[in-house]
Amino acid sequence: MVDVVCPFCQNTGLELRGESVSGFAFELPIVRCSACGAPFSVLQAADLAQALNQQGEQIRQLTAVVKDVYRQLSDIEGRIRQVSPQRVAS
Ligand SMILES: [Zn+2]
Repeated sequence: MVDVVCPFCQNTGLELRGESVSGFAFELPIVRCSACGAPFSVLQAADLAQALNQQGEQIRQLTAVVKDVYRQLSDIEGRIRQVSPQRVAS
């Protein structure tokens, strides 16, 4: 692996950070110097598409979990109503 040397501060560390860029609704992932923040590159559209696909899959998984939790809470509420209907507000 080749070390990338920052031309501004001679640091060799890089980091990935989301930055607001005029004209874009979302932050763009920018590879930059970890010491001074000088930008080196912006990840390509294919990388962004992959990231969006991964986020979409995570949202689908979380939606399924939330629906399951909601179903379980509704079931618990129904059981509580059977035991003590006057104590459960509707
Ligand atoms: Zn630097």
